[in-house]
Amino acid sequence: MGLIRLLLLGALIAAAIVLWRRFKQPAAKADSQQNTAEAPPMVRCAHCHVHVPRAQALNTPQGWFCSQAHFEAHHAD
Ligand SMILES: [Zn+2]
Repeated sequence: MGLIRLLLLGALIAAAIVLWRRFKQPAAKADSQQNTAEAPPMVRCAHCHVHVPRAQALNTPQGWFCSQAHFEAHHAD
């Protein structure tokens, strides 16, 4: 149970850092990089079901994973 709480906390911190960086960035720079969505697209980890920004997630034929560890853990079952 402690591990799951730790992973959830890690995902929250990662999301907070992404949001913080996004707010810190000058609007002009963000505009030139991507002119589509305001919120980053989120995907769900197939192993722990935590939502993570797609840029940080692992894209595999089996689905999205929040980390390499969960991708490997998913196949260990
Ligand atoms: Zn996961």
